[in-house]
Amino acid sequence: MKFKKSEKLYKKGLTHLVGAVNSPVRAFSSVGGNPLFIKKAKGSKIVDVDGNEYVDLVGSYGPMILGHRHKKVEKAAKKALKKGYSFGASTEAEIKLAKIVCDAFPEMDKVRFVNSGTEAVLSAVRLARAFTGKDKIIKFSGCYHGHQDSLLVAAGSGLATLSLPGSKGVPKGAVKNTLIAEYNNLESVKKHFENHDDIAGVIIEPICGNMGVAIPQNEFLIELKKYLKSKNALLIADEVMTGFRSKFGGAQELLGVAADITCLGKVIGGGFPVGAYGARNEIMEQVAPLGGMYQAGTLSGNPIAMAGGISTLTELKKQNPYDKFEEIGSIIEVILLETAKKYNVDLVVNRFGSMLNPFFTKTKVTNFEEAQTSDTKKFAVFFWEMIKNGVFLPPSQFEAWFLNSAISDKDIQVIANATDKAMRKVA
Ligand code: PLP
Repeated sequence: MKFKKSEKLYKKGLTHLVGAVNSPVRAFSSVGGNPLFIKKAKGSKIVDVDGNEYVDLVGSYGPMILGHRHKKVEKAAKKALKKGYSFGASTEAEIKLAKIVCDAFPEMDKVRFVNSGTEAVLSAVRLARAFTGKDKIIKFSGCYHGHQDSLLVAAGSGLATLSLPGSKGVPKGAVKNTLIAEYNNLESVKKHFENHDDIAGVIIEPICGNMGVAIPQNEFLIELKKYLKSKNALLIADEVMTGFRSKFGGAQELLGVAADITCLGKVIGGGFPVGAYGARNEIMEQVAPLGGMYQAGTLSGNPIAMAGGISTLTELKKQNPYDKFEEIGSIIEVILLETAKKYNVDLVVNRFGSMLNPFFTKTKVTNFEEAQTSDTKKFAVFFWEMIKNGVFLPPSQFEAWFLNSAISDKDIQVIANATDKAMRKVA
C-alpha cells in the first residue's frame, strides 16, 4: 500500500494549514506517520488520494450513520441546493427537522439549531445557567463537550490524544465555575453539591465516546438524574455523538433517562454542519426572542443542512438499523477479543450498539483513569496494520469507532482479516 500522494499533500498543506489539518485528531499525532488525505467515499468505503480503499469505521466521527453519499440524503441536499444556500430567514425545513427531533426525545418541546456540537453545548450550558440562576457546572473527567473554554478541562478525546491536561489560552476565570467529577461515580458528584450551593447542573455524555467508549454502570444515569432533581439542578445530556445513534431517541431512550436539556449534532445533519439543543418549554422559553438568554447564528438552520438532517433521520426511522448495529457490533467485538486471545494480547473492548473500541489493557474501563491504562504504543501499531489491510480507524486510542448501516458481510471479513494481521503484529 502506497501513501505517496497523501505524503505530498501533507507537506504542501503544512504551509498554510496548522499541522495540515483543520481538527487536531486528523493529524495522526499519537499514531505517528503522515495523515491520510481523502479523495472520496461511498457507502461503507472511503478512498484516499493514492487510491487505497478502506472499510470506514471513522464515519466522519459519527455523522455518517447511513454510510457515505446515501442516495436519499444526496438527492434531498441537491434539491435544497437548487433553491438557494442561505437566506437569513426561516424556512419550512427547520420546522420539519425540529418536529422529528423533538418527537424523538421525552422532554424536548422546543429545539434551537446551531452549526456544530460545540455551539450546541455552549448554548445549553448558558441556558442551564439562565434557567437556574446558578453558575457552576459539573463535568466528568474524560468527557468532551466541544472546544468552548469553560469545558475544555479534563476533556478526553483530542486532548488525551495529544497528552494535554487542558488547553492553553483558556483563562482561569473561564473555568472557575467548572467542577470535575469522575464518570460512573455518583459520590464524586455529591461531594461537589456538599461544597457548593450554586450548581446549575451536570453535563454528561450519557454513553461516553471521548475517552474511547465508556458505558454508564449500574443505573448510574438514573441515580444521577434522581439526585439532581432533589438538588434542583439540571441534567444536560450531551448526545452530540449518541443522539439518533444509540437508538432513534439516543442514549436517553436506550437507558430510560430523560435529560432536562439535550445537546445534539453529528447524525442530525447527516454529514452537513448542524448542532442543536432542546428542552421542555419552561426551559427553552429562556432563549431569545422569548427570553433573555441570547444565542444566535448567521448560518443556523442552513437549508442544505436541514435537508441533509431531515432525509437522514427519515431514512434512519425507516431502516431502524439499531438491531443490525447490535449484531454487527457484537460480531466485531468478538473478532477483536478472540484474535487478541489467539495472540495473547491483553485487550478490553467497550461497545454500546454502534460505538466501540478496543483498549490494550487488562483492567476494565469505566472511567478516564482506567482508559489511560491502555498501551497507546500498541494501539499505534494496531492502527497502522489495520490501515495497511484496508480498515480506516480513528487515529487515536481515545476515539470511538462508528458503525454505519452500509457495512456488509464482506466488509466484516475485511475487518476480521485486518484484525488478525494487526493483532499478530501487536503481540
Ligand atoms: N460533544 C460531544 C460528545 C462530541 O463528541 C463532540 C465532538 O466530537 C462535541 C460535543 C463537539 O462537536 P463539534 O465537533 O461538532 O463541535
